Amino acid sequence: LRPSEDEAYFDSYAQLSIHEVMLKDRVRTQSYQDFIYKNEHLFKDKVVLDVGCGSGILSLFAAQAGARHVFAVEQADVVHWTRETVRENGFEDKITIIHGRIEDVDLPMDKVDLIVSEWMGYFLLFESMLDSVFTARDCWLKPGGAVYPDSCALWLVGIGNPAGHEAEIDFWNDVYGFRMSSLRRAAAIEGRVEMVNPTHILSQPVLVKRIDCCTDTVRDLDFVTNFSLHITRSAQLTDLCAYFEVYFEANCEHTVLLSTAPDKPPTHWKQTIFIWEQPFDVTADPFFSHLWSHLPSSMSQALPCSFKSALDSHLMVSPLPTSELYHTY
Ligand code: SAH
Repeated sequence: LRPSEDEAYFDSYAQLSIHEVMLKDRVRTQSYQDFIYKNEHLFKDKVVLDVGCGSGILSLFAAQAGARHVFAVEQADVVHWTRETVRENGFEDKITIIHGRIEDVDLPMDKVDLIVSEWMGYFLLFESMLDSVFTARDCWLKPGGAVYPDSCALWLVGIGNPAGHEAEIDFWNDVYGFRMSSLRRAAAIEGRVEMVNPTHILSQPVLVKRIDCCTDTVRDLDFVTNFSLHITRSAQLTDLCAYFEVYFEANCEHTVLLSTAPDKPPTHWKQTIFIWEQPFDVTADPFFSHLWSHLPSSMSQALPCSFKSALDSHLMVSPLPTSELYHTY
């Protein structure tokens, strides 16, 4: 980010409203709470670094789970409230709040045992905050320490939503009697954050990027991926829908999957859609149609998207994470 963008970014996190939205997103916040409370062994007597503590909720969870000490780093001015919250809940001896950018601060101790952070943006990587988590890891994590969530994945799925296409793209064909083709092209390129109706899904999800938060580097985040979609329903393909999942898994007694898939309970991240300027007809892959038609519908609807893809990939390409093993909200 350029300095002015950096400032605007942290100004937005100085507002109550953004923290309220995140805290009221129960899928998000309870996934972290479940991970921390149901894996107390990871936190007991450990020194924890919370990168971008915001309201302080993850630090409070960690302290409550028995952490020896939590360093909570935050650049936005929300920290004035966070200090008060920590005091109000009696954790001032356990949680040290440090106001500053994680890239610039000096921790009053050597290294930490583990890092927790809720860094995910729209389309997983939109805010680029994962770069800061990697910096924190490389500077402050003890050898053998862990970062949570420890991995994450970006998925794509094909969507058929002709009404959406008409409203967002065809709109530019006749704007009060004028054609606006350049705006139509721009509209098609732009990613949109929207809640996707799961009945519009036309394909199996495909994994486009998996990130290991404990070992990957900033370079790994700059990627190009080829992919193909297995079409499960013949219709007009109008959009690609991107969503992400994060996994709390390494050394966990209770693994947690936080999913933002369209067929899962909604989160404030919604999904990101990319609308084709020219939609096209797609035909269901007979092999997959056959496979899915032989699953009882209650079972196939209950499967998380990523499990379906795991099965798909197991059959066709290579093994993928078996998300059905995770606790899913
Ligand atoms: N942990 C909180 C807030 C998550 S939002 C919660 O789970 O509710 C991410 C937070 O990280 C924001 O408050 C943002 O200001 C902060 N942040 C982002 N990049 C940062 C950086 N480089 N240094 C310090 N704080 C950062």
